[in-house]
Amino acid sequence: MKCAEFLKELTDYLDDAISPGVKRELEEHLQWCHDCEVVLNTTQKTIEIYRNNKLYELPETLRVRIHSIIMTKCKGSRQSKKTST
Ligand SMILES: [Zn+2]
Repeated sequence: MKCAEFLKELTDYLDDAISPGVKRELEEHLQWCHDCEVVLNTTQKTIEIYRNNKLYELPETLRVRIHSIIMTKCKGSRQSKKTST
């Protein structure tokens, strides 16, 4: 699983709305990818704050922000390939 895929499933993972197989893949990814672990923890905290404010929907702006954070980290840690999209 790539970081981009992890990110795509991240919100569903946090909502526990994914199949057990995908969940296991995400957890395997977390074993070796510290960046995604950090993103996960940060997102969890953010979601808690939103839930406390009774805003259950994760705002699109937050998704975009998380996405850019992780993409920047991934590009910084390994510059092996240029990915189009
Ligand atoms: Zn990752």
